[in-house]
Amino acid sequence: MEKKPFVTKEKLEEIAAKYPTPFHLYDEKGIRENARRMNKAFSWNKGFREYFAVKATPNPVLMKLLKEEGCGVDCSSYTELMLSDACGFHGHDIMFSSNDTPPEDFRLAKQLGVIINLDDLTHVDFLNEVAGIPETICCRYNPGGVFKTANGIMDNPGDAKYGMTYDQMEEAYRKLMKLGAKRFGIHAFLASNTQTDEYYPELARILFQLAVRLRDETGADIRFVNLSGGVGIPYTPEGEPVDILKVGEGVRKAFEEVLVPAGMENVAIFTELGRFMLGPYGCLVTRAVHEKHTYKDYIGVDACAANLMRPAMYGAYHHITVMGKENAPCDHKYDVTGGLCENNDKFAIDRMLPKIDIGDLLVLHDTGAHGFSMGYNYNGKLRSAEILLKEDGSFELIRRAETPADYFATLDFLHLFG
Ligand SMILES: *Cc1c(COP(=O)(O)O)cnc(C)c1O
Repeated sequence: MEKKPFVTKEKLEEIAAKYPTPFHLYDEKGIRENARRMNKAFSWNKGFREYFAVKATPNPVLMKLLKEEGCGVDCSSYTELMLSDACGFHGHDIMFSSNDTPPEDFRLAKQLGVIINLDDLTHVDFLNEVAGIPETICCRYNPGGVFKTANGIMDNPGDAKYGMTYDQMEEAYRKLMKLGAKRFGIHAFLASNTQTDEYYPELARILFQLAVRLRDETGADIRFVNLSGGVGIPYTPEGEPVDILKVGEGVRKAFEEVLVPAGMENVAIFTELGRFMLGPYGCLVTRAVHEKHTYKDYIGVDACAANLMRPAMYGAYHHITVMGKENAPCDHKYDVTGGLCENNDKFAIDRMLPKIDIGDLLVLHDTGAHGFSMGYNYNGKLRSAEILLKEDGSFELIRRAETPADYFATLDFLHLFG
């Protein structure tokens, strides 16, 4: 499938005239339509809720937009809890799926009355000591081994640091009941950025069977199953998007085959998607500022890995559109680079693109999740602005770009900078 930006060149030039590149741009229309499809896919389940994974895109305007579409949020740190609370998410609107959790994070989670998801058996006593056990609580499961579907191996949970073994789940539930917990949930995240309609249904079947077994063995009152994140998006033009309506139907089938016969038809399905909710509805907009011809041909842009880490970190592919040259032949082979003093600061390597001229606007696709949020300040690079393209075609600054004063703010006590 051809990848087309959700914004025109004219609109981008208009935005860039007001807010200089680089910036991350988000598409309100795409976000809302996708969230509605997601909710429709699971509307058969009475208690269904998507808890958007805040770490993917921690911007309050986008979080509130998802809130309007009925979503809750999934947090894993103190500041994500603060941000979510400030955005109007309260109590069970928030899942707290953390790991290696500091005591103050558990204390805030307990104080806010959110649903705490325990990553380990030892966290039962730890939480009890630092904050107390809430009446509703969740435990994270890790089945070990490799996670396979009919189409092959998806991921390797046995190597992942998350979650508890079956025996630990059982012991955690028993302990939690003794300490006053009354309502339980099960959570697992077994594979990341999956590209098939089978991931959620297969995972759901495992967790539904686990729910029945845990209820039978411990007598726990299991109220929800959280399928967590991991539904992927196609980053390449060849990739096919997941059909979320089919995914919802697949989960329904497992639900009807496993939970309904066990008398557990009131169990709610939760999800914690990040990438699927926002990934395709954001892009990084940058301008070509230099070209260089040595042993290879380089285009230097005004963004760098500090604005989008995935290519440098994972070798991840992000499609690039040179605005205004959509129909030009891709007859130039470029490395598209940022300015970090690190040779892995390349958004593309040996990419066939149209001839790029200085000043051209480049759109890096699918940066709406795990894009801006993975940014950092290496080499003293400053974080960019975030801008929302609204449904009516207007645009709004939803995070200003950092200034040197922001970068130096943590050194203020030295009184070096006036
Ligand atoms: C990162 C994360 C998610 C979201 O993952 P995506 O791949 O963006 O869907 C959900 N839940 C937990 C606990 C996570 O750590």
